[in-house]
Amino acid sequence: MREITCYRCGHSFSVPDEYAGRNVPCRNCEALNSVPANPGSSGTRLFDHLDERGQDLLEQRFDRLLQALSEYERRAPALKT
Ligand SMILES: [Zn+2]
Repeated sequence: MREITCYRCGHSFSVPDEYAGRNVPCRNCEALNSVPANPGSSGTRLFDHLDERGQDLLEQRFDRLLQALSEYERRAPALKT
């Protein structure tokens, strides 16, 4: 279980580990709170519905996409304000 403190009303409640990396509604005010993913956990993958191989492939592609995006950001001209 994880302890969540609602960002809106400050109400504390616990959610099962399966909700790591997802959004859960506060028990008190129903604001959506994101449950922090456990960085050391191997149980939480980006694409839960795929098998190991599919997850690895997709995560590799996702990494490449992120790299391409940050590369693009570096090349893009600074925003004029
Ligand atoms: Zn709340």
